Amino acid sequence: MAQDTDAVATRPVVVKKFGGSSVADVARIRAVAEHVVADRARGRGVVVVVSAMGKSTDQLVQLAHEVTEEPDPREMDMLLTAGERISMSLLAIAIRARGVPATSLTGSQSGILTNDFQGGARIVEVRPYRVQDALQQGHVVIVAGFQGVSYRREVTTLGRGGSDTTAVALAAALGAECCEIYSDVDGVYTADPRQVVDARRLAELDHDEMIAMARAGAKVLAEEAVAYARMSGIALFVRASDGRPGETMVRCHAPVAGRRISAVALRPDALCWRHAGGAQLDATLDAWLADEGVAPLARLGAGPDGQAVLWLARDVADGVSHGFEALAAAGRALIGDNLASESRGDLVSIVGPAVGSDASVSARFLAVMAECATGTSQSADAPQWLSHGLTLSALVPAGEGAAAVRALHRHFVEEA
Ligand code: ADP
Ligand code: ASP
Ligand code: MG
Repeated sequence: MAQDTDAVATRPVVVKKFGGSSVADVARIRAVAEHVVADRARGRGVVVVVSAMGKSTDQLVQLAHEVTEEPDPREMDMLLTAGERISMSLLAIAIRARGVPATSLTGSQSGILTNDFQGGARIVEVRPYRVQDALQQGHVVIVAGFQGVSYRREVTTLGRGGSDTTAVALAAALGAECCEIYSDVDGVYTADPRQVVDARRLAELDHDEMIAMARAGAKVLAEEAVAYARMSGIALFVRASDGRPGETMVRCHAPVAGRRISAVALRPDALCWRHAGGAQLDATLDAWLADEGVAPLARLGAGPDGQAVLWLARDVADGVSHGFEALAAAGRALIGDNLASESRGDLVSIVGPAVGSDASVSARFLAVMAECATGTSQSADAPQWLSHGLTLSALVPAGEGAAAVRALHRHFVEEA
């Protein structure tokens, strides 16, 4: 296939990420191949990042836990990265079958260099030389998402949902024109449309708001990916892979005129600790979190009264290959006698600029919670709600989060 190499080298590049549901079976892989071939025909260099097919990552995790209760983190990464290798090669095969040159590359081959946190590694550098070479040869490049390689040449994974981060990091390293995230939903909504039927699609969203939403449980985009996009000044376009029209643009300083609370989110299975051990214990707790590679959902450092608060999410801990119970036990042991309270439940949150700027929001938030009869999690002196940045969250009893989210959405979004 003869190529005008100068023309190819100066073509704009687009990075497109297709999640698990978009490559769940052969028919959907063929549909993605059609989409990619049509896009390339518009004269753009196309890099595609793929997730593992359907729920195959969950199945691999389950398989490992059938073998043993606590699988080795390194071997877990070897196992889980296999999922994305399957989808990347099948997509490359499907594109080649349409007469278009395509090359699949693992995270390591794509130059995704990470630290050595097995199960929850951070990207530290991207050296996409092989991606650039293949683009220059006119190939569509398919990259396995969710994985990289450490400086010690160990294969690593980026935490659950990490293919979004692969896409953003590659878009930044390649100077891509844009980064498009395709999934089973046609944008970012005011709440998970699976939980709230009246949720509306947001046309535009600020990076900061999206980061807060992702942290609060809106898994449509991975928090880490949006943080990377903010750092690199990259706009993200969230679209449905089935071709439905509509999208959400997530970018720097998106106007939020008139919007005071942008979204409501739910994170089931959260754990809240309060300790009374003062600043020194608090520093120890922070060091432990850093060692474990776990980002807390919310953190309130020890105040003058020596009290501090830490909220953790089960899926964050699971993302770094720890059993949540084991992680919780280790943290609890660390706090020891100073543990003032522990509560568990569903974390419900509202996100938006009004959280920090409108004093009436917290009172209304608590009134809605009381009205929908969930009440906040019962623990004598645990903080029942917490305002942090753009987010106001409360812990409700396990299983009651969905009803609370619907009530909050009615009050703060539908009736606002
Ligand atoms: P993929 O596997 O393609 O990465 P995900 O399952 O990670 O897709 O993300 C898409 C899902 O995110 C949707 O199916 C939807 O249920 C969920 N979701 C949660 N909160 C929101 C929200 N605020 N807006 C849109 N989707 C949301
Ligand atoms: N396959 C991985 C997961 O299920 C990564 C991803 O989908 O982004 O978490
Ligand atoms: Mg995802």
